[in-house]
Amino acid sequence: MLGHSHATSGALAWSGAAALLPVTVLSYPALQDATGHIGTVELVLGVFLTAGAALLPDADHPKSSIAHVLGPVSYFLCVLISKLSGGHRRGTHSLLFVAVATYATWAGAHWIGRPFTLALVFFLLALAVRALHLCPPGDSFRTYGTVIVLAVSGTFVMDHYIADKPAWLPFCVGLGSLTHILGDCLTDRGCRLFWPLDTRVRFPIIERTGNKFETWVLSPLFVLGTMAVLWYCITQQP
Ligand SMILES: [Zn+2]
Repeated sequence: MLGHSHATSGALAWSGAAALLPVTVLSYPALQDATGHIGTVELVLGVFLTAGAALLPDADHPKSSIAHVLGPVSYFLCVLISKLSGGHRRGTHSLLFVAVATYATWAGAHWIGRPFTLALVFFLLALAVRALHLCPPGDSFRTYGTVIVLAVSGTFVMDHYIADKPAWLPFCVGLGSLTHILGDCLTDRGCRLFWPLDTRVRFPIIERTGNKFETWVLSPLFVLGTMAVLWYCITQQP
């Protein structure tokens, strides 16, 4: 699947989950910090952050768009993650990764607090900017300069609204990663969902449809779906 399909499907998954699930589920594993319900602000912040998180599993691929999101820094990080996770579509495309990413987010926010939360917000926004093509294409300084400027601006905005340890943030990261690997399962190569076991899970329906279908049909549908659910949540719920 393409980056923008992953990002937009992550956004839809978050808005759908926020509309349907009780707050105790959305804030797992931070149950003790959970208060009240998901507010409108959290709902909107979560859309952008989950869109970014839906790119995380491709950190195992030095040629992916996530590898170039912050220039050489992210490139070398991706080379390292690729080595550690055994190559593309292995360790980071598994249910184990979803669990580790979720708990790592919870642990970072819980033990480090605000600096961790804001650093993660910056990084997820950078991924979203890149995947949604809000920056020039390629991997030049101009590209990641734009990504950095937009992500820093977004982080300043979110800094106003976000809590030190947002109880819903681990859920965003876990859900984004899960949406990504389920999306990849719809392609020909599938994913090793139960890594380190070698079994591939695949329901190849995307490959036949091709990039045009993703760009002109699938992604716009995900965006429209997200906006419809947001509209419903904001206007129809108390
Ligand atoms: Zn992938």
